[in-house]
Amino acid sequence: MRYPDTQLLIDGHWQDAADGRTLAVHNPASGTEIGRVAHAGITDLDRALAAAQKGFLTWRDVPAIERQKTMRRAAALLRERADGIAAILTQENGKPLAEAKIETMAAADIIEWFADEGMRIYGRVVPARNPAVRQLVVKDPVGPVAAFTPWNFPINQAVRKVSAALASGCSILVKAAEETPAAPAALIRAFVDAGVPAGVVGLVYGNPAEISGYLIPHPVIRKISFTGSTVVGKQLAALAGQHMKRVTMELGGHAPVIVAEDADLDLAIRVAGAAKFRNAGQVCISPTRFLVHEQIRAEFTAALAAHAQGLKVGDGLVEGTQMGPLANPRRVAAMNDIIADAVARGVTVAAGGARIGETGNFFAPTVLADVPLDARVFNDEPFGPVAAVRGFERIEDAIAEANRLPYGLAGYAFTRSLKHAHLLAQRVEVGMLWINQPAAPWPEMPFGGLKDSGYGSEGAPEALEPYLNTRAVSIFNA
Ligand code: NAD
Repeated sequence: MRYPDTQLLIDGHWQDAADGRTLAVHNPASGTEIGRVAHAGITDLDRALAAAQKGFLTWRDVPAIERQKTMRRAAALLRERADGIAAILTQENGKPLAEAKIETMAAADIIEWFADEGMRIYGRVVPARNPAVRQLVVKDPVGPVAAFTPWNFPINQAVRKVSAALASGCSILVKAAEETPAAPAALIRAFVDAGVPAGVVGLVYGNPAEISGYLIPHPVIRKISFTGSTVVGKQLAALAGQHMKRVTMELGGHAPVIVAEDADLDLAIRVAGAAKFRNAGQVCISPTRFLVHEQIRAEFTAALAAHAQGLKVGDGLVEGTQMGPLANPRRVAAMNDIIADAVARGVTVAAGGARIGETGNFFAPTVLADVPLDARVFNDEPFGPVAAVRGFERIEDAIAEANRLPYGLAGYAFTRSLKHAHLLAQRVEVGMLWINQPAAPWPEMPFGGLKDSGYGSEGAPEALEPYLNTRAVSIFNA
């Protein structure tokens, strides 16, 4: 499928920026420009904000069952269009086509789950102290939402926010990533084509700092949702705080993988190996710090290195590719820095360790062995295809290392011991812990982090709360 140029969506119309500005979009597998995306200015933002306000006043009064039907139509459209959308996603982000298809199909499931959950936003009737009084707790949509989404899962990160907003009766203005604009536009198009009224969903691109700096303080916007780095998340949360705006923050992680001496080693390699190199490691829940019991550390490292070396790296559109290029040249530079730092500290590179070729952002799946705690890779989020392994003697030491960093998003563990499993479940400070299994970020389960990884959930009924006002209403039968 030909890669499309991307326009802004304002008040139900796809359009260029008022001043005609655009930005280039590149294919990370070739480095070539494949399209353009419209660059919104303040005039465009003002129109998008007015439309979001108008859309909110319409959508909040649409009965939940009608909202559900419209959202379910959007999910169906997304499934029908999944092959074409996946090809677009692969061209702008680099991930293998199969991963792009999974992301698109999973988005349809997410829309449906939120569509149905929107039917279950209940208030309460609270027994009153006076029999002539009726005490009600009511839940109302908070208002127009501003959402900021990144380039690593251009559809997934946007669909959670759009679905939660729409299911709650809010309107939403999305600023998706300029580097991967067409896939989120295809997602939003499914909502528009399904009949979501004008202004309920908007989409803009431009200068991220300018747009967030304008939208967050704006009186129309009542809630902020951001997915991206911890550094930027803290800036946006601080700005939102100054203007007393609700915030959901889904930020960086540095997921520990604890492999106990009693683990099923084949399972651990298969699951953690696949998870590590999915989307070339550019995943907020990517396993990064592999903490392996000393008894099995050498065997585990060798098997993980063999897995990494066996992966077919290439253009995501080519059949059989298991890992695509990194999404942008910044990530290649970051990988080189992280690996140079480790090597300077005497770390052994057990697999990969360097860029592949001169064209595109290809990087070899990398395994670093016996990594010291002060190495950068064990402290800064790598956000790339690098696994760092070190040993431990006691499970308590592994838990202490898992909790050492300010991050607290995802964690993985492999053990056959019920005692270990319970201890890990109680003590590992992460928002999501998966034991003896791959990540399972289903929409019905909470999705979010602790500590510097952010706050709020983007899954489960908890995901709707931040989009709702809770009000007390008391009626005296005069
Ligand atoms: P970055 O921090 O500059 O940008 C991350 C995302 O935030 C991008 O989508 C960007 O457009 C957006 N952004 C940046 N400044 C913004 C602002 N002032 N207002 C609104 N949005 C803004 O870094 P990057 O080079 O694009 O990505 C690298 C780092 O970002 C990674 O190391 C990783 O930690 C983090 N990241 C996290 C996720 C995630 O899923 N949590 C996704 C993408 C990137």
